[in-house]
Amino acid sequence: MKTAILPTSDDAALATAVERAADALVAGEPVALPTETVYGLAADALNPLACARVFEAKERPLSDPLIVHLPDLDWLDRLAQSNVVALRLAERFWPGPLTLVLPRRSVVPDLVTAGQGTVAVRMSAHPVFRAVALAAGTPLAAPSANRFGRISPTTAEHVLAELDGRIGLVVDGGPCLHGIESTIALVGADRIAILRHGPIPAEELAEFAPLNGSGRGGVTAPGSLKSHYAPATPLDIVEDLSGASRENSGLLAWHPVSDEAGFASIEVLSQTGDLREVAANLYAGMRRLDARGLNRILALSMPGEGLGAAIMERLQKAAARG
Ligand code: AMP
Ligand code: MG
Repeated sequence: MKTAILPTSDDAALATAVERAADALVAGEPVALPTETVYGLAADALNPLACARVFEAKERPLSDPLIVHLPDLDWLDRLAQSNVVALRLAERFWPGPLTLVLPRRSVVPDLVTAGQGTVAVRMSAHPVFRAVALAAGTPLAAPSANRFGRISPTTAEHVLAELDGRIGLVVDGGPCLHGIESTIALVGADRIAILRHGPIPAEELAEFAPLNGSGRGGVTAPGSLKSHYAPATPLDIVEDLSGASRENSGLLAWHPVSDEAGFASIEVLSQTGDLREVAANLYAGMRRLDARGLNRILALSMPGEGLGAAIMERLQKAAARG
């Protein structure tokens, strides 16, 4: 299959891209689309055959459920059983990088939920994604547009590096704003459990209901595999650089370091240590280091508060072997 990249750089190109993407989705074809978190591989969430093509292109195990992106808020009640806390969260954070896990309704295919009694829903804030979802007129299941277990794509070029020849269309919306995957929260009537940290930090969710990390009521988030988002080069997290061997090693640093001597390659993710910028540049930095044939990558540890928790979670999954 030949993979076409559709630009969105001017109004005419955008209109063409939205129309072609929506037509392909309605016809049951997967299409890679930009979101504000990472690029997603979208398919009509109500069409099991279309969703099966997403699993196939990604080589994703069928045990790993898909997040469903809603065209508008009316769809929430059609796919999920909501509650007051979920509605308040949706009102505050949608469209945006927060995924809510709620009891499902039967219209959602089993393939999408991996047979679980819950469905994960969100609304993307990316203007291109929103336009395509509205034009297609159906909720879109859209996991990250990479092969399973690998680094999520934050540009259209990354999508091609992962899925060239496996999908028909990639819509190029430029680099993603947040650069890491959405926060996933299991939302009950009186508590919230964070299943994956992300751009909306735990501290902000705690204002809506008590956070309860353990009581997940049997709901699992299979994206919480130990190894995920991983470069092929072994990656280790270090507190500081003293004593670390630097021979043929790359450094992934969230702020500039004074002691650069001896590293074969260095990626500084933010000149000011701004965690938003670090998150936005994280996967591109990992990919560049991964392409350099290094023996290993050292990643500097950071404080695990706010967005730091989400970035550290990604680094830990990238560092996990097997
Ligand atoms: P991604 O591959 O980045 O799109 O993330 C999808 C992840 O969302 C999955 O790996 C799960 O962790 C989570 N997820 C999706 N659907 C559900 C669900 N029904 N229940 C719990 N977690 C879910
Ligand atoms: Mg993924």
